[in-house]
Amino acid sequence: MSNAPSDQHASTLAATFLKGQARKANRPLGLSIALAFASGVLLIVQMAVLAHVISAVLTNNAGLDDVSFPLAILPVLFVLRGGLSYFSERLALNAAIDLKHQLRGELLSQLLAKGPIVVRGSEQSIGERVTMLTDGIEALEGYFARYLPAMVMMVMLPFAILAVTLSLDWLSALVMVVTAPFIPFFMILIGKGTERLNQKQWRKLARLSAHFLDIVEGLTTLKLFNASKREAETVTRMADSYRRTTMSVLRVAFLSSLVLEFFATVSIAMIAVFIGFRLLYGEIDFFSGFYVLLLAPDFYLPLRQMGTHYHARMEAIGAAGKMVDLIGEDSAPAPTFEPQSLPRHTQGIAIECRDVSYAYPDGSLALDRISFSLGAGQNLALVGHSGAGKSTLLDLLLGLIQPTSGQILINGIDLARLPVDAWRQQLAYIPQRPTLLAGTILEAIRYGAPEASMEAVISAAKAAQLHGFISQLDDGYEHRLNEKGKGISGGQIQRVAIARALVRNAPLVLLDEPSAHLDPDNEQKLQQALEVLHKNATTLTIAHRLHFIRHADQILHLDKGQIAESGTHEGLMARNGLYASLVQSLFDEEAHRD
Ligand code: ADP
Repeated sequence: MSNAPSDQHASTLAATFLKGQARKANRPLGLSIALAFASGVLLIVQMAVLAHVISAVLTNNAGLDDVSFPLAILPVLFVLRGGLSYFSERLALNAAIDLKHQLRGELLSQLLAKGPIVVRGSEQSIGERVTMLTDGIEALEGYFARYLPAMVMMVMLPFAILAVTLSLDWLSALVMVVTAPFIPFFMILIGKGTERLNQKQWRKLARLSAHFLDIVEGLTTLKLFNASKREAETVTRMADSYRRTTMSVLRVAFLSSLVLEFFATVSIAMIAVFIGFRLLYGEIDFFSGFYVLLLAPDFYLPLRQMGTHYHARMEAIGAAGKMVDLIGEDSAPAPTFEPQSLPRHTQGIAIECRDVSYAYPDGSLALDRISFSLGAGQNLALVGHSGAGKSTLLDLLLGLIQPTSGQILINGIDLARLPVDAWRQQLAYIPQRPTLLAGTILEAIRYGAPEASMEAVISAAKAAQLHGFISQLDDGYEHRLNEKGKGISGGQIQRVAIARALVRNAPLVLLDEPSAHLDPDNEQKLQQALEVLHKNATTLTIAHRLHFIRHADQILHLDKGQIAESGTHEGLMARNGLYASLVQSLFDEEAHRD
């Protein structure tokens, strides 16, 4: 119970968020409610006509001729009400679909705007995000399409019926006024319990999806460790726990409906008994009594329906909580000063870091006052143990994160002043495990430069030692790859990424060298491909291969976020310090492999 107040706060935020969303569809939702209300008013008229016909026939001995006009009106009213209800529901449903569509787009662009660092560092797992964007958004439909209209109807229709009843029979109106508040009262009481259960159910579903995604992605590991049976049991256990929570939500929902139905039925029975006695003693005329009796169930109907729709609200609030979290997370601060621009495809890119520090949102200092400069066309090798801050430095240069303090100067201009899109046009990035999307090899190579000519693609493929392999394929450059590059080897995926960078002809290349060991043939091809890349541009490489490290113009040895040593291979070897021991261990490793 200790987190109850924060749960409460989260629910309030989620409810405000949902209301804000609904406001975007004010018009269609408003129209839908107006149509539903019109249909309600027609119902009151229809009941009046019906009561009139029956009372005329029963008490005034009227013939068919006397009631032929009202009898003819009845079917018209039926059809009209049906039409109004149909259009009202359609409008509400379409509005909900539009809202879901918009919201899904908004959330996706939020995710994209935040970039991979915030997304990766966030508490929400990928699985949770997928659940939020799929099931989560779907869970809002009931709220927009049913709960909101029902909520307004609950206020409007009973009041209209009460007004008519009051004009005919004050006693029945009194029963209605006294009994009606019990229904929302009990509903809120029960709803509080459901709210907590619903949030629990939602959390379990998200956890289940996250776990399932992990399992699918880690299928190889599972098989290797012979753990599939164990994981299957875990999933069964999680699914069972989700089932139990779902059942308890349903149990509360059914029980609450039962209580509400019971109250409504008892109240209608009371009205009926009062009317019956007074009819017996002639204290009320038949028309009024019968009319009120016909209207009574419809007085309670919107209140009873609220019980069902309240459930939709709870579900939506549970789902919206995650969306509020996403929107509330910190995103990269926008530059506060006038952007400047680099001429497109400048001759070369020189980089200077001045006292650059970076702390992750959780407070861990990944880079601590780093300073270095790299001339245009030079190659820099970043070395250091895992966790030294190498990837963080690359992420800073990619513009995915901004320095906590210090400056990165690009040809003398502060990187923070450069519009990030324009900056990224100047660079090519090759991650350790490049992502290839499903499509042809040609599309994969052209990914960063869709306008590149076929000659440029072939020359890049040749430089990346890929052309020979592609020419041997039946469909050559049109060869289709499945998602994640399935269909070609890991070494080839690396070289497609290099060809992709070469086609871009970017003046700066950021490279996270593959650390996995390749077979000698692939290794040699990769080496040659990288050499072409290094010749053409300024490069900053997280280096794992002795060959490149040794030939780099400058080596930065990072340790715990600081530059432990820097210089050229010869200079650093002469020092016989940290770097020399790193080289020795790489040398031993490579010799051992050969
Ligand atoms: P390297 O690339 O040299 O292995 P990183 O740049 O990945 O090192 O990490 C530097 C430090 O920052 C490490 O201590 C690591 O734990 C921390 N770190 C990396 N990513 C995050 C993150 N998303 N949130 C918090 N700390 C992080």
